[in-house]
Amino acid sequence: MKKTEEVAHSDPAAENYKSEQKTEFDWDAVLDGVKKDLYFPPSWLFSIKVAKIEGKTVTLEAKTHFQALWVKNHYLQLINDTSRNLYGKDGFEVIIDANEENSGAGETKKNRAQENGRSAESHDPQTASFFSSSNTFDNFIVGPSNQFAHAASYAIAENPGMAYNPLFIHSGVGLGKTHLLHSIGNYILKKNGTRLNTFCISAEHFTNGVVQSIKTGSMDKFRNLYRLNCDVLLIDDIQFIAGKDSTQEEFFHTFNSLYTAKKQIVITSDKPPSVMKNFEERLKSRFEWGLTADIQPPEVETKIAIIEKKAEEEKIEIPADVASFVAQNVLSNIRELEGSVNKLFAYSKMFRERITLELAKQLLSNLVKKETPKIITIDLIQKEVSSFFDLTVKDLKSNQKQKKVSEPRQIAMFLSRKYTSSSFPEIGSKFGGKNHSTVVHAVKNVEKKIVRDSSVSSAVLAISTILEKFITS
Ligand code: ADP
Ligand code: MG
Repeated sequence: MKKTEEVAHSDPAAENYKSEQKTEFDWDAVLDGVKKDLYFPPSWLFSIKVAKIEGKTVTLEAKTHFQALWVKNHYLQLINDTSRNLYGKDGFEVIIDANEENSGAGETKKNRAQENGRSAESHDPQTASFFSSSNTFDNFIVGPSNQFAHAASYAIAENPGMAYNPLFIHSGVGLGKTHLLHSIGNYILKKNGTRLNTFCISAEHFTNGVVQSIKTGSMDKFRNLYRLNCDVLLIDDIQFIAGKDSTQEEFFHTFNSLYTAKKQIVITSDKPPSVMKNFEERLKSRFEWGLTADIQPPEVETKIAIIEKKAEEEKIEIPADVASFVAQNVLSNIRELEGSVNKLFAYSKMFRERITLELAKQLLSNLVKKETPKIITIDLIQKEVSSFFDLTVKDLKSNQKQKKVSEPRQIAMFLSRKYTSSSFPEIGSKFGGKNHSTVVHAVKNVEKKIVRDSSVSSAVLAISTILEKFITS
């Protein structure tokens, strides 16, 4: 487009173009100019529209509050420079607002999903700079498995740069790292508005930025973007830069300059720094300078609370037995937990059926843990025998000779021979290192007593019933 080429970013002396200056504001032309100055203009930038032009003031409108803020913080200067190049120094002043219907509390789910849109991330590196407005501290369920990471994140969000720096959060997949990272971003934004520039990016997007700027020879601009403009850097999945030397080098310098300037850094990873492979030592040690917090797989109670919270959000009733069934059977990964719950919700909505335990069992049969076959072990036998005779397992393993201990010990050895495939010496070793012949003697002795001593035969029968019940329950 001819008009685009006239925008003349390379030449700040826009006055040279006065003869070609337009008088009517043409947003497309400005946008074309802006586009040329960005590494990867985010796709949503093109959905921004002119809401009104009053005199020399042009008000742009973004779909959401977040987009408006982002433009204000990152692109408005560039937009106004480009506009001045086109319309001259006394041309238009561009400001930006969010579409009120979509922003803030009234923000629709659809827009949130678009912002959150993971599918967009892969096409458009900068889209990921947003934090998803649906991941907040408010909808993060706190339990023993994540309370430390949650408390540390909250402290950071309250006082960026003051509490712990960097905060390094690590966990297995789907346990809430990204949720916490975005919660920090949302909290800071809510509390500080545009006063603090919060960058929330995945390490993959940071890498793309490095690659792109190496290609286009614009490394300085890339560096400045992070090192000069950023007050809080939230970087997700740092493991992505393992083995990527140039990116690690860049990140090292970015880290140093932000850290020195007391800017908050929060990093997430799938592993703790000490065991990260293909990472420069100097980076790994920096990751440990502040606070490291892990998230463990959630306990059943936390899983139930997450399910109930989701049901509440979706306004769907989920009976307690179903919530408990899902929590106990679905793997610990919360993303999978959500997937299972969503499946139940979708089915119930589609067929207008109430969610019952039967339905849940049927729909989630593939996710339910496979029953581990139950076997009778010597440990179990010792536990049951000692409790039957009111002794301790330690007594059974001891060398005490009194009948009240030696007889139960022999019964336990006899049952071990009967219910397990252990050899005599193996049984002996489980009873405090008794030898082979002691066990043989014990087994023979009990076999004899069963026939003539009713107290022994009834004890053996009673304990055998308990043990067999265990395998069939
Ligand atoms: P990670 O980044 O560790 O792989 P995510 O943060 O993407 O995991 O979490 C996976 C899903 O589980 C997300 O939808 C997230 O909102 C949800 N989730 C994780 N932890 C919690 C929690 N404690 N409370 C509520 N939802 C959670
Ligand atoms: Mg994640």
